[in-house]
Amino acid sequence: MRTFKKIVIASGNEHKIAEIAKIFKDCELVSMKRAGFDGDIEETGKTFRENAFIKAKTVGDALGLPALADDSGLCVDALGGAPGIYSARFSGEGDAGNRALLLKRLEGTDDRRAYFECAVCLYTPDDKKSLFGTGRTFGSILHGERGEGGFGYDSLFYSDDLKKSFGEASEDEKNAVSHRFRALEDLRNLL
Ligand code: IMP
Repeated sequence: MRTFKKIVIASGNEHKIAEIAKIFKDCELVSMKRAGFDGDIEETGKTFRENAFIKAKTVGDALGLPALADDSGLCVDALGGAPGIYSARFSGEGDAGNRALLLKRLEGTDDRRAYFECAVCLYTPDDKKSLFGTGRTFGSILHGERGEGGFGYDSLFYSDDLKKSFGEASEDEKNAVSHRFRALEDLRNLL
């Protein structure tokens, strides 16, 4: 297994860093901000994988350190995979607006199947190599919100694994079946 002394996480989200720390136990993880990267990264990719690569490469090259980035979103079957890579910007009005728009788009639709997908990319600037992991977690979109926990679409996502919404799940329960956890495990298996 290839090991890394220090990895920069190309994200400002402390929750993500804590989740990654559970899997990459043996190396020092630093947020990009703490490592000295304060720029904006435009996510111009057409896939989760491309966006994860853009973020990891931008931060890794800027700092000269191995960098890990993720990109994720919700894919709804009846909407042809939307909102997908546009999950964060679906309504243009934040998480609550995104949930309201999703319910509206699915009004009268019986097929509620959906999954969260996550791609992670570990980029090393010394040899310009990238490794990728992907993960999905399956479920369906509820007709109304359930639970107060989580973020984004969690309260509308009924998990097939947990038999409850992600909004009703504890952080540990969700992390055990999450798309991000599965993508990180997939990546770790490649090291
Ligand atoms: P990002 O990968 O952090 O940019 O996430 C993109 C968007 O996808 C978020 O803003 C959420 O709207 C949605 N999303 C990604 N992962 C989750 C999750 O675990 N729960 C709820 N929403 C999520």
